[in-house]
Amino acid sequence: MLFSDYFKYKDKKPIISFEIFPPKTDRGMDNLKKELAELVTLGPDFITVTYGAMGSTRDKTLEIASLIKNHFGVESACHLTCVGATKTELDTLLQEIYDAGVRNIVALRGDPPEGEENFIQSDDGYSYGNELVEHIRKFEVSTAIKNYFGIAVAGYPEKHLEAPEIGIDLVNLKRKVDAGADVIITQLFFNNDFYFDFVKRVRDIGITVPIVPGIMPILSSKQIQRITSMCGTTIPEVLREKLDAAIDDDDKARDIGIGQCIQQSKELLAWGVPGIHFYVLNKSGHMIRIMEALSEDLENLKARGMIANTL
Ligand code: FAD
Repeated sequence: MLFSDYFKYKDKKPIISFEIFPPKTDRGMDNLKKELAELVTLGPDFITVTYGAMGSTRDKTLEIASLIKNHFGVESACHLTCVGATKTELDTLLQEIYDAGVRNIVALRGDPPEGEENFIQSDDGYSYGNELVEHIRKFEVSTAIKNYFGIAVAGYPEKHLEAPEIGIDLVNLKRKVDAGADVIITQLFFNNDFYFDFVKRVRDIGITVPIVPGIMPILSSKQIQRITSMCGTTIPEVLREKLDAAIDDDDKARDIGIGQCIQQSKELLAWGVPGIHFYVLNKSGHMIRIMEALSEDLENLKARGMIANTL
């Protein structure tokens, strides 16, 4: 099933998706398989698999996305970045993704590897996400198969770090949608007002595709500080104080994170989001608690036939 199909039915429940990343070691891979076996029992509509900086997890990304689809029977998506890749390499990879039975792509520009400030753009490659989306749609035309891939792109409620201001970032977001993206998945945020304001601004410039909030349940104070410093997400003062008090206590930080995630998700669902994309950080225990806490909200929305195609 393609991204575009998930969000088009008016009588559907909110679409729940999970995001995982390829582990670096074989042991990590074994652990991930165990966690995946738990995660799929929570009934996600699809699971996406990230792509390491400069294509560093290329094979593993596809291997895991294929495992999710073909072994666990859950729809999956490969993240794909264009920095550092040639057009020919992208074509080869797109064909491999299709041949593995994976039908959805989260299309991104990508970042330089950790510790490096700049990326070297390939002579025969691209610099921005919109160019990758355009490339994928052209690739589809070359195969003569319609609706080859569903495409999601990234949106930034607090603006992308490099963008001088949010208005310019939104113009660039529109380029990605105009190039053929079906859905926007947002960067993580801890204050829903950023998302509500973002949706309004995105709609004001004529973007109509669904905007799925990306939510990261916190698992450790230090980890979330590192992640937010890299992506520019604000941690609200009250939450920061709680996390500071749990700086060396991951169990406590996880409890705080679960509470925060449930609170944010309930408010988003009540507001009418088309779905929630959880950055699950390759663990299932906290997601079991979170999904349990949201089950009633999700059931109620399903029973009411929430309108899942407008936001
Ligand atoms: P773009 O849309 O290209 O934007 C990058 C910057 O350039 C922005 O400031 C934008 O305003 C500006 N810009 C865009 N187009 C133009 C243009 N035509 N002319 C001038 N300026 C322009 N990274 C990974 O490496 N692997 C992953 O798997 C991954 N998954 C992600 C999933 C989600 C949901 C999100 C939100 C992010 C993910 N990232 C991932 C991070 C992402 O690669 C970085 O945030 C990256 O810096 C930007 O990618 P993008 O596709 O949003 O870039």
